[in-house]
Amino acid sequence: MTGTGIEVTLKVREISGQNPFLCMQCGLCSAGCTGKGTMDMLPRQVMRLLQFGSGKLLDERSMWICTTCLTCTARCPRGIDVARVMEALRALNQRRGVSVLAPADLGAEILADVPQMALTSAFRKLSA
Ligand code: SF4
Ligand code: SF4
Repeated sequence: MTGTGIEVTLKVREISGQNPFLCMQCGLCSAGCTGKGTMDMLPRQVMRLLQFGSGKLLDERSMWICTTCLTCTARCPRGIDVARVMEALRALNQRRGVSVLAPADLGAEILADVPQMALTSAFRKLSA
């Protein structure tokens, strides 16, 4: 099971197709991140932990808060698709059965009112 140290980095690299070691820690991704107000770890810090090879990353909340707005991806001077890195971290968690949203978490009213596409999108992103 992937979940420790450099294994996480290698898996993220494989899934995302991005090389975290290209990151030069400029911080442009974090500066423009639309989720930075509620993230426990900013995109630049995520990249740094990947470089260090830290399995701790899988327990952080930032990947779930990321809205895939692509600001980080557009800004990165090293051409790293940071949004794909966040997506890969979510995928790794989902592979180990971790979810942050389940149908049972939502009341009947929400399930009835929210557009089906929004629900499908939310469960695809947030459920294992
Ligand atoms: S894609 Fe995610 S990590 Fe990147 S700027 Fe948007 S919210 Fe932040
Ligand atoms: S913008 Fe790119 S190079 Fe700069 S910190 Fe973010 S990932 Fe690293």
